[in-house]
Amino acid sequence: HSATRDIGGIRISPYACQRRTTLKNYNQKLTDAFEILVENYEFNENKEFCLAFGRAASMLKCLPFTVVQVNDTEGLPWMGEQVKEITEDILEEGESSKVKAVLNDENYRSIKLFTSVFGVGLKTSDKWYKMGLRTLEEVKCNKNLTLTRMQKAGFLYYDDLISSVSKAEADAATQIVQDTVWKILPDAVVTLTGGFRRGKQAGHDVDFLITVPGSRQEEELLHTVIDIWKTQELLLYYDLIESTFENTKLPSRKVDALDHFQKCFAILKVHKERVNEGSAVQSKVFAEEETKDWKAIRVDLVVTPFQHYAFALLGWTGSRQFERDLRRYATHEKKMMLDNHALYDKTKKIFLSAANEEEIFSHLGLDYLEPWERNA
Ligand code: ATP
Ligand code: MN
Ligand code: MN
Repeated sequence: HSATRDIGGIRISPYACQRRTTLKNYNQKLTDAFEILVENYEFNENKEFCLAFGRAASMLKCLPFTVVQVNDTEGLPWMGEQVKEITEDILEEGESSKVKAVLNDENYRSIKLFTSVFGVGLKTSDKWYKMGLRTLEEVKCNKNLTLTRMQKAGFLYYDDLISSVSKAEADAATQIVQDTVWKILPDAVVTLTGGFRRGKQAGHDVDFLITVPGSRQEEELLHTVIDIWKTQELLLYYDLIESTFENTKLPSRKVDALDHFQKCFAILKVHKERVNEGSAVQSKVFAEEETKDWKAIRVDLVVTPFQHYAFALLGWTGSRQFERDLRRYATHEKKMMLDNHALYDKTKKIFLSAANEEEIFSHLGLDYLEPWERNA
């Protein structure tokens, strides 16, 4: 399983953190299909198959060629029996009946629809499905349901939030965040993280990391940012989560668990005039026809103490699969524990500090991967 294979001099490691994965994907047909299965297994809480197809999809994304026959995958990591079967169907029939069945499955379709609402997770979706609900209209009309504040915002701004955020919109959001933060603390470092840092042209939200070199001034920052945005009427929704971070805590391997930094999950009102799409003519037509001259955009703000900035940056840049493999690698290959806050060496029983991402890779004995090479 974990054998490393040489392809034209390129080593294919079973760890995504040892593979350079850019956005150029020669096997999208296969990886899209696998990702539908991953999603379905996630909905059904089948962890084993979820991992199997997730790892296979991620591995295929780094190949510098298109797989055209099953033979091409010989010796590659994570190509188990189930994965090979689906691969064969797609390569030979052009599609997989199993994937098609998932796409037509009522449960899959409903859960996918419900979880597309901001604030609605698997548990809530499952509950709604078991109540016999199938559409968002049915959910909205059901008088017996009590929606959270987050879900109410999710329904209110549904159309805006479901349309993906463009790079131009992310840039406009960045301007707003930087303007406000720098007004308060000119020395603050504001970094775009998540998918946009990896070079993606679109995303479901915009992620930011904020830190202040050489001080503890960051503690009040987010509160002040929120106050300013409130008076500017730019905040459509926000949930501020205070820090629960303790320096002595050992790193945790769970990628899906929240980290302990202070953060704010927000929906920002971004005016269309702030978005420079490079087509001024079109936006003028828009402004005349539409009354709504803004778009609701999901923004995540994370504030970290300066000493932990590099770890948070590495953790919030993703991709999720890259993060999982990075932690798995640290644990199994280095006897170290890595998370968004710190790196701990279990043999030496010490925390390893890092001023930047390069130093973390180096502690782990890994070649440095640029953010755009982490699209695993
Ligand atoms: P998208 O384009 O869909 O936004 P993305 O890669 O930016 O893709 P996000 O869900 O925004 O995905 O998350 C960005 C990264 O931040 C993830 O890869 C993950 O490692 C990390 N992350 C996301 N949510 C949390 C969280 N609640 N706590 C800690 N880390 C998180
Ligand atoms: Mn994101
Ligand atoms: Mn996010």
